[in-house]
Amino acid sequence: MNTVSEILSKQELSKADIISLLSLTTKEDHDTLIKKAYSVKESCVGKKDYLRGLIEFSNQCKKNCFYCGIRAGNTKVNRYSISDEEIINVVDFAQKNKFTGIVLQSGEQNNIGFTKRITDLITKIKEVTNPEFRITLSLGEQSFETYKEWFDAGAQRYLLRIEASNETLYKKIHPVNDLHNYKTRLKCLENIQKAGYQTGTGVMIGLPFQTTEYLADDLLFIKKMGIDMVGMGPYLEHADTPLYKYNDMLLPLPERFNLSLRMIAILRIMMPFINIASTTALQSIMKMGRERGLKAGANVLMPNLTPGKYKSNYLLYENKPCIDEEADECLDCLANRVKMIGEEIVYNEYGDSEHFTKRKTIRKTEIFIHG
Ligand code: SF4
Repeated sequence: MNTVSEILSKQELSKADIISLLSLTTKEDHDTLIKKAYSVKESCVGKKDYLRGLIEFSNQCKKNCFYCGIRAGNTKVNRYSISDEEIINVVDFAQKNKFTGIVLQSGEQNNIGFTKRITDLITKIKEVTNPEFRITLSLGEQSFETYKEWFDAGAQRYLLRIEASNETLYKKIHPVNDLHNYKTRLKCLENIQKAGYQTGTGVMIGLPFQTTEYLADDLLFIKKMGIDMVGMGPYLEHADTPLYKYNDMLLPLPERFNLSLRMIAILRIMMPFINIASTTALQSIMKMGRERGLKAGANVLMPNLTPGKYKSNYLLYENKPCIDEEADECLDCLANRVKMIGEEIVYNEYGDSEHFTKRKTIRKTEIFIHG
């Protein structure tokens, strides 16, 4: 068996290599992997981190993912939808704090009224910002026409987490019906890329029934799909969900945390130029969790700018951090923490995924050569 240093010296990691790295057991080997990933981050995307202001504007959702606290079937949730005016106030706040973009996230809805609302909202945001201001959408599965309509209105990035790229596991964590169809999910990801977006996906780490082999496949899936942005973090349970009954199958939290860091680190090595978010779920397990994610190779932070009065109603999992704080308190705290680890938050730069920029250049060259 190869040592961790031998594996890390390879040009390309095989599935067996990835499984070996995910299965490291000693602190020394774990630290070797994290250090290598950080050196890749430093040389390819720099010791700098980008902010994306997250607005969770509605927790209304028609779906019933087994792991999610705001699933339609959870009657304990107070449902809300933030008005356009309140969203624009958050955008103003983001601009004043030198953010160059925001992320609009909600539960999944698809109907003509919702599509039009988002198109109009994108237009309004562009009116109070500028055409370059980055709008990321995280609004679930939609038709190609809808993705295209929002892209043409001015949104530039789209996040749709696959959550589990293995179909068997996907079916264990979602109801098996037309509304939660694995193949539809894949098709949507392809359509998002086809519409022209910087495309983001991600998975949960430490799910019941998940094997190390499945996680290795997740990383290979992300690479094969040519994804530009990734957000992945530890699976955190919510008592009011069907998946909660399998809690005794879960790894202890510290192990889920370390496994998540290794996933980030391996992905940074496999795809040096993508953007990787250090997720709030890491911070839920450990106070400095997001900073540890940055040191493992992540380079994006998504502070939650949702007005405080709504935050406690958007709990995909329990023990979500900072739900009692307003956005400005979160930002002060975040800037200090990033400084503490010797990194810098970059303001006034768009921080597009370099992988996307390269992908677009190659595509343009291909069109030029082949006509
Ligand atoms: S994960 Fe998303 S789509 Fe699934 S139930 Fe939760 S909010 Fe809805």
